[in-house]
Amino acid sequence: MKDLGLPSKRAMVYQDIPDEKWNDWRWQLSHRLNTVEDFEKVFPLTESEKQALLSDHLFRVDITPYFASLINPEDPNDPVRRQVVPTAAEIVPFTGMMEDSLAEDMHSPVPGLVHRYPDRVLMLVTTQCASYCRYCTRGRIVGDPSATFSREEFEQQIAYLKATPQVRDVLLSGGDPLVLAPTLLEELLTRLRGIPHIEVIRIGSRVPVFMPMRVTEELTSMLRQFHPLWMNIHVNHPNEISAELAEACDKLSDAGIPLGNQSVLLRGVNDCVNIQRSLVQSLVRIRVRPYYLYQCDLVEGAGHFRTPIAKGIEIIEGLRGHTSGFAVPTYVVDAPGGGGKIPVMPNYMISASDHKVILRNYEGFITTYEEPIQYEPHDASQCNYCKERAIEPGQSGVLGLLEGEHMAIKPEGFDRVHFRGGAQHRLRENTNKWKPLGIGDTEDEK
Ligand SMILES: *Cc1c(COP(=O)(O)O)cnc(C)c1O
Repeated sequence: MKDLGLPSKRAMVYQDIPDEKWNDWRWQLSHRLNTVEDFEKVFPLTESEKQALLSDHLFRVDITPYFASLINPEDPNDPVRRQVVPTAAEIVPFTGMMEDSLAEDMHSPVPGLVHRYPDRVLMLVTTQCASYCRYCTRGRIVGDPSATFSREEFEQQIAYLKATPQVRDVLLSGGDPLVLAPTLLEELLTRLRGIPHIEVIRIGSRVPVFMPMRVTEELTSMLRQFHPLWMNIHVNHPNEISAELAEACDKLSDAGIPLGNQSVLLRGVNDCVNIQRSLVQSLVRIRVRPYYLYQCDLVEGAGHFRTPIAKGIEIIEGLRGHTSGFAVPTYVVDAPGGGGKIPVMPNYMISASDHKVILRNYEGFITTYEEPIQYEPHDASQCNYCKERAIEPGQSGVLGLLEGEHMAIKPEGFDRVHFRGGAQHRLRENTNKWKPLGIGDTEDEK
């Protein structure tokens, strides 16, 4: 691969550590920083950081020596430091804060499985990570060594997956699946691959970023047995893209694992159009495709990281058109209360009339698209995919409105509020007054 001239750093205190130790992920794990004394050997702490580290009620702190070495010791606002070193701001509650902001627990059929979407599940396989992000969305379970998932829970998860054939995509997360003991991870993947309807397995991991030395030949040759296997890593700032991360990503890509990146929009870390453009461009150079940019969740300890949603829209405005299309992530708000991910973006459609649509591009160029006057719609009755692979009626959502399956989606209690007796109301004469025409029906066939 092209030499990218990426930095490789090691903080002063680690200069004398022999390479074979530094490059051993077990050494990295067992030398993580978590106390005031540990940190003060690497960089001087601020009062706010000390106060946070000495507080009892803090989400777990642990940082690998490798990741701590990416921090500029002289800058208290360093973007890598702000992601992993706590400050007193974490202890401050804010309006809208919730413990389980995404209502994941409500969507758990068995412990550690989140089944939110029709065809895919999130499987929480461990509560441990290589280092802990201060804005962790799963701070309620992650980091607690006593809350590790048991074998019994794992068997329950497998049993649920076996019995649920609509699941074709399993996303391993946690915690971080790549901190599991290698034999345990291999067993887990083997068991999942043994379920015929599971087509795709995904791993969400920040290990390549926190501890790239974990990505060994041994690991990639184990992982490549389980294709199709996809992976999303988690990089928020260009300073995290080191020679070591590039090498780890190269090994994963060479093992045939497509890599994506999920980042979180964080105040004081990456809430800047130019940082984000540099980030996505650096990611595609190491063959990682930007996948999602998340709005920061309403989670305890993360209040000081939040930005207005408008900042995310501005960032997408600064990416789309200005750089390679495949480098532009989808900006999403993970709906508080459990609605799942909702994409948010600038408006590109300015106006419309019958068969004319007015669009604007990233430069502000405004154009007209003439739509066909005669459009012969897709004939569902002749289409095998429509016959065999249509979305189940109960789960069609807004698509169901378009397809005429139902006319409206109503908030809970809507009918109770609006039913006023209405004996004389014309809509009451015939409850079938509104009938879907059906896609493709023409007036005279009605
Ligand atoms: C994010 C997420 C997924 C995967 O969503 P994709 O849009 O397919 O990447 C699945 N389940 C849950 C609960 C999630 O939060």
